[in-house]
Amino acid sequence: MEAEAPLPCRTDPDAYHAVTVRAAGARELCAGCPFAEACEAYAMARPALRGVWGGTTMRERQAARRQEAAEEETASRLLDGLLSR
Ligand code: SF4
Repeated sequence: MEAEAPLPCRTDPDAYHAVTVRAAGARELCAGCPFAEACEAYAMARPALRGVWGGTTMRERQAARRQEAAEEETASRLLDGLLSR
């Protein structure tokens, strides 16, 4: 039975925690990881996490959270308007 290869973020953690990693570099670091989706969701739920998670940078996750918040605000205003008629 062949042993599973360790995750690259475990064998080279410094590469994943460098704040200088750009989006393309982050995607490349996590390319092919079977846990990428769950890893990104984990980091999205934890704003204080730095570095690369699930192929995303901290900046990308911050931007995604802002976008989600703006969309929720817009939906909330629309619903408020509809329900107050
Ligand atoms: S997706 Fe997450 S678990 Fe997979 S290599 Fe990237 S940082 Fe590691």
